Amino acid sequence: MGSGQVTDWQGKHVTVAGLGVSGVPAAKVLHGLGARVTVVNDGDDPRTREQAAELQALGVTVRLGDGATLPEGTELVVTAPGWRPDKPLFLAAERAGVPVWGDVELAWRLRGTVPGKPVAPWLCVTGTNGKTTTTQMLASILRAAGLRTAAVGNIGVSLLDAVLGDEPYDVLAVELSSYQLHWAPSLRAHSAAVLNLAPDHLDWHGSMEAYARDKGRVYEGNQVACVYNVADKATEDLVREADVEEGCRAVGFTLGTPGPSQLGVVEGILVDRAFVENRRESAQELAEVSDVNPPAPHNIANALAAAALARAFGVPPQAVRDGLRAFTPDAHRIAHVADVHGVAYVDDSKATNTHAAEASLAAYGSIVWIAGGLAKGATFDELVARSAGRLRGVVLIGADRALIREALARHAPEVPVVDLDRTDTGAMLQAVQEAARLAQPGDTVLLAPACASMDMFANYNKRGDAFAEAVRELGAGA
Ligand code: ADP
Repeated sequence: MGSGQVTDWQGKHVTVAGLGVSGVPAAKVLHGLGARVTVVNDGDDPRTREQAAELQALGVTVRLGDGATLPEGTELVVTAPGWRPDKPLFLAAERAGVPVWGDVELAWRLRGTVPGKPVAPWLCVTGTNGKTTTTQMLASILRAAGLRTAAVGNIGVSLLDAVLGDEPYDVLAVELSSYQLHWAPSLRAHSAAVLNLAPDHLDWHGSMEAYARDKGRVYEGNQVACVYNVADKATEDLVREADVEEGCRAVGFTLGTPGPSQLGVVEGILVDRAFVENRRESAQELAEVSDVNPPAPHNIANALAAAALARAFGVPPQAVRDGLRAFTPDAHRIAHVADVHGVAYVDDSKATNTHAAEASLAAYGSIVWIAGGLAKGATFDELVARSAGRLRGVVLIGADRALIREALARHAPEVPVVDLDRTDTGAMLQAVQEAARLAQPGDTVLLAPACASMDMFANYNKRGDAFAEAVRELGAGA
């Protein structure tokens, strides 16, 4: 199937691996293009049967309960991004010389196939943390510049819809996960950013090297700029290893004073020394730190990365400022819930890994930290050692809280810790009450669990909602 666009799908045998959010639309699109589609799926339950029936009614073949065997005659596999690369299906495809594409690769290959629709370049964002925020900031900046755009990919509109739907776009702000990048071999972005790189999803990728390699794929073939994080050398290394278009530049972002070809911060102003006439001697003011919402250090880094991608696309400085001002973060990302008795209560339930929680803790001076949940194999020594000086106290919840308690005993033995062993729905209220007892005026009570939520809650949203509800109850009784 080469690396270009596929224009003739008629009669092609395509196997779609996995029903679900990407599989069902992919199967429909491919069927609509005339391909002979077979969907294979591991699970066989009422929900999947319902999805299967819908596809079967269109004439798609569906095999439930067997996601391991490659159907006879398959010429292409289109997989859900979450499927692990070591699955027998993929090994069989490799043996048979059959290419495997993810949902992003499929969308990339279908660009330009809708007559009359402009082909929008992609500005891509990946990294361990901050992807959604940065992609949304980027879309907001592009909109402020009068461009038709959307935040797509891992968020919002699906890439297939963006590429094939009626809505015309001038440019797309694309969030990509490491899984999606793994399965997107021919993606070539206009410009791309890797925000940061910390161990995550290593069981899926097999190793840190493999994870980094998949993230680094986002830079392959970039046309204008590869945006990296000056404070995270691993991201710069990925730029160096990438094969890019002639003339494509490496552009760094930093919370410090920027050098030439960098964006950074000078006396509370975000400045650009990359996309200016004379970058050796001049700098362009873009926005003030206070234009970034919230102005926490890691979020200013996100804003700089978004600004770099927008500037690479030719957006004027004023649109960067207007776009940042117009941006509001999604719920549960450093959301200020309320002040009670001079203590601020902040919900960063989305801090589901240690790297995110560390960034979150670094944004405040004196903190009562609510943490714990499912650790997903993480260790907490570094996080606790680096944050110990800011901790007024800690309240621990959830299944793996002992891991955090032990790290605290090693690196912050003087910090008071309340260990809650209940996991019922009232646990969060008690956690907030205990935190309120430990806090003093001027402190921040911060929910930044550094863990996944599924031991106690349906997801991180529900965990954050429970926190906000508990804070409201606390306030009502104040
Ligand atoms: P993602 O889409 O990568 O999960 P989000 O924008 O949803 O990222 O942010 C998730 C969490 O990661 C936030 O709640 C915050 O705790 C943390 N975070 C955001 N940006 C950064 C960053 N640049 N560096 C480290 N942590 C970050």
